[in-house]
Amino acid sequence: MAMNLMLMGLPGAGKGTQAEKIVDEYKIPHISTGDIFRAAIKNQTPMGIEAKKYIDKGELVPDEVTNGIVKERLAQDDVKDGFLLDGFPRNMAQAQALEEIGAQLGKPLAGVINIHVDPESLMERLTGRYICRDCGATYHKVFNPTKEEGTCDRCGGHEFYQREDDKPETVKNRLDVNIKMNTPLLDFYAQKGILNEVNGNQDIDKVFADVKAILDNLK
Ligand SMILES: [Zn+2]
Repeated sequence: MAMNLMLMGLPGAGKGTQAEKIVDEYKIPHISTGDIFRAAIKNQTPMGIEAKKYIDKGELVPDEVTNGIVKERLAQDDVKDGFLLDGFPRNMAQAQALEEIGAQLGKPLAGVINIHVDPESLMERLTGRYICRDCGATYHKVFNPTKEEGTCDRCGGHEFYQREDDKPETVKNRLDVNIKMNTPLLDFYAQKGILNEVNGNQDIDKVFADVKAILDNLK
């Protein structure tokens, strides 16, 4: 069976790291929406030209154009043995479109992997970063603190700040939006019987061992 896969995970769950490991191990293309948008626009595919019209106007690219770009990508030769979708679908309309694309191209999804980490742990991961105001060295409260509390290892400075993106309120918002977006998709794929939950609250290699156990079963 072709390894037609979709990877899910909230921000901070380690999805990017696992994506790299999966495509490396199984030699399948990593299809992330950002990358295929850039490629479609650069290569001026019919859908790429459509997408550019919206982007140039500063407007959101509608689902039908995004779906078209995914379809163009999944029709290419290098995905005949499988692919790893990352960042698509993001909503139920896109998920339904992917069902149709999969049926039309004879490439239905074989498995969805969700790297699951509870929101409390994600808050800890995502809000822990702080930066030295003097030299820009980056630390993390839990994973990479300064050797001496309140003193920069690199320059000895004592002033630190957090980026706007790393502040608890911003992170909480980002997580809430993503949870709201992911929940219907997780339900949908669970009902189809192709959802696989992986505990992302373990070290990277153990997470990947769990992913691999699932994927080896799909082959
Ligand atoms: Zn410093």
